[in-house]
Amino acid sequence: MISNDTQRFAAIISHAKEYGFVFQSSEIYDGLSAVYDYGPWGSELKRNIRDHWWNAMTRMHDNIVGIDSAIFMHPTIWKASGHVDNFSDPMIDNKDSKKRYRVDHLIEGYADELKANGDEAGADAVIAQMDALLAASDYAGLKSLIDARSIRCSVSGTCNWTDVRQFNLMFSTQLGSVSEEANEIYLRPETAQGIFVNFLNVQKTARMKIPFGIAQVGKAFRNEIVARQFIFRMREFEQMEMQFFIRPGTQKEWYEYWKKERLDWHLSLGFPAENYRYHDHVKLAHYADAAVDIEYAFPIGWKEVEGIHSRTDFDLSSHQQFSGKKLQYFDNEINQNYVPYVIETSIGLDRMFLLTLSHAYAEESWTKEDGREDSRVVLRIPPKLAPIKLAILPLVKKDGLPEIARDIMKECREDFYCFYEEKDTIGKRYRRMDALGTPFCITIDHQSKEDNCVTIRYRDTMQQERIPIASVRELVRSQIR
Ligand code: ATP
Repeated sequence: MISNDTQRFAAIISHAKEYGFVFQSSEIYDGLSAVYDYGPWGSELKRNIRDHWWNAMTRMHDNIVGIDSAIFMHPTIWKASGHVDNFSDPMIDNKDSKKRYRVDHLIEGYADELKANGDEAGADAVIAQMDALLAASDYAGLKSLIDARSIRCSVSGTCNWTDVRQFNLMFSTQLGSVSEEANEIYLRPETAQGIFVNFLNVQKTARMKIPFGIAQVGKAFRNEIVARQFIFRMREFEQMEMQFFIRPGTQKEWYEYWKKERLDWHLSLGFPAENYRYHDHVKLAHYADAAVDIEYAFPIGWKEVEGIHSRTDFDLSSHQQFSGKKLQYFDNEINQNYVPYVIETSIGLDRMFLLTLSHAYAEESWTKEDGREDSRVVLRIPPKLAPIKLAILPLVKKDGLPEIARDIMKECREDFYCFYEEKDTIGKRYRRMDALGTPFCITIDHQSKEDNCVTIRYRDTMQQERIPIASVRELVRSQIR
């Protein structure tokens, strides 16, 4: 049984592997660090989260459309966006262990230790000091803080540190076959720039009027240094981003609007409000005039799942300057031409996946009526996101029961993901479906031939009831809308 968050996190990781949600990439070659593959049920869950976000953005808003831009882009884009010069984290190396740390993570780890030893105020003071130094990009000051506190490397146990240096997180590769002539290009570290450079294409072809948004889901790549928290921090991951183009001067109200709208999206999935909080940025990125993280209480602590950023006109103005092409909008309501301002919402699909598992994973045990103990592992995934919606289970493999089951399968599978299973006892089959997060199971028994009814079993309550076969499809549909 799990008794703390560390064990809970370990249990989630091993459950994700055992039940076909997430595998280490290249496992038979001992894996590739911070890269993961999604298995049969993981890829279904991921797709459902992606679709749910996509529909909430595009279908549910008249003024948001989607695009799907390429991962490779012109290298100058990353100069214009500031990533070549600014997309780096302050790092420090321990000279004895040769281990490299992100400075903020090293200091946060030290603050966590203080907290664990009961020095809450001391921990807060260190974090406040660090935030101020980071905000001022004072690297010598950060080094002094690490020295003054005698912060140690967890591998060598020494305080023998290099200076603090910047380390760019973009991956680069070559475009072109002849190496001398090939251009260095980058794997995109965010999907947003594909939206900015297509701003006019989309605005014109989709006949959009400000305010309007462009949404995109796609892969992003970052050479993360500290990447050891399962799918929380990966080197290849997926982002779901939306850039909302607005009239300059209206950014404060739209920022507040999207801050609320995005938290509401999370809560509408049934995730508990007390597991969420906002965290305002102290150090603003070079493009932002306001920024907030939506944080979730993961088993590894409060961590960012989504960011909302008021990006001003930084990106469009910069692309205008670097490309020499005008990226402006004529607003006929006020008879003015301007470079729009932007509010961005950016959420990691893999992080949302981890959030869903963190919320859903439960180990339960109870005493049955006959006095015996029973237990199960259940994933309480919101039905809308569950990989399998309905398990169809004939009680036995004969007497015409599989035929009835197959007929129900045929009727339902176009509407939602159904899973047919006739092996093992019903009890074992229920447990397996609990572990996969399947919200509904129906059992076809001999009586079904007489009364055209089946027993439906609800994952969360384990309650069972008899319902007509004819109502199965509608019942499930009504619960997954
Ligand atoms: P962090 O501070 O955790 O590194 P960030 O502030 O750099 O994140 P953003 O650049 O704002 O993140 O990216 C937006 C979202 O993309 C994040 O909220 C997160 O959900 C996701 N994301 C960013 N980096 C990663 C990563 N390495 N692995 C998985 N998801 C990521």
